Amino acid sequence: FIQFYVESIEIEGVRKGTMLVLRDVTKETEMDRLKSELVSTVSHELRTPLSSIYGFTELMLNRDIDVSRQDRYLKTIHSETERLANLVNDFLDVQRMESGTQSYQKGLIDLRPLLEETTQFYAASTAQHTITFYAHDDASYPLIEADEEKMKQLMNNLLNNAVKYSPLGGNIEVALTVDHQYVQIDVRDEGIGIPSNALEKLFEKFYRVDNSDSRKIGGTGLGLAICKEIVEGHGGNISVASIEKRGSTFTVKLPHIVTTYETVSDMIDIS
Ligand code: ADP
Repeated sequence: FIQFYVESIEIEGVRKGTMLVLRDVTKETEMDRLKSELVSTVSHELRTPLSSIYGFTELMLNRDIDVSRQDRYLKTIHSETERLANLVNDFLDVQRMESGTQSYQKGLIDLRPLLEETTQFYAASTAQHTITFYAHDDASYPLIEADEEKMKQLMNNLLNNAVKYSPLGGNIEVALTVDHQYVQIDVRDEGIGIPSNALEKLFEKFYRVDNSDSRKIGGTGLGLAICKEIVEGHGGNISVASIEKRGSTFTVKLPHIVTTYETVSDMIDIS
């Protein structure tokens, strides 16, 4: 975005000419857009968990409620509080992305147990979906240099979406493969899919597909933007292939710097 205006040039109060000033205001315009998106998302997304926490605590304070109902209410309050905490963390992440202060605590990590663990966690927490993890048993997987917490956050966001945007009974698969340069993670679902005209904007901050399904499901449009930031912060790339009403596959490629476990032990021997 270019803003332009005319200014007069005066020397000692005498007008000597005029000047056309062009100013690149792309950054300011983008910041304004983000701020107004933030305000509307915050007000919309915070209201639901807050009113549910408020309602259930009020019920528990004012009524005589049997233990099993108390237990149900507490579970709801707990999960809604978790949802609020995740929202706040996402907003903080985006703020760090904007200000360029996002930092990574990188170390050598093995993605396979990490993926197994996050997949198992999601499989245990949903009875309505089948979540399966695939990796070749016999392959020795290369290590990658990465921030373990951020890798978990990446997988959580992708799996969370796969569950959120799939109907009950949908199958979800996480597959880990390797080539000579990259480790590749595919997260596949049989969910609502994404219209082709939305694919290129999907990783933008606050972008949400504008259809009745997505509106009903709710969200901030930040999860995938955070995924992209994490993946690119590790020298990799993320992409999506999807067919509406059939399902989506999110593919993450991360470079491995050390090709096999043997190479790691060789390196240790040498040093
Ligand atoms: P949120 O889910 O909070 O809206 P995301 O950034 O995680 O935000 O996703 C952006 C949008 O991409 C979602 O609103 C949804 O429309 C679409 N989307 C993401 N993942 C999937 C998926 N697995 N299947 C279908 N649509 C998806």
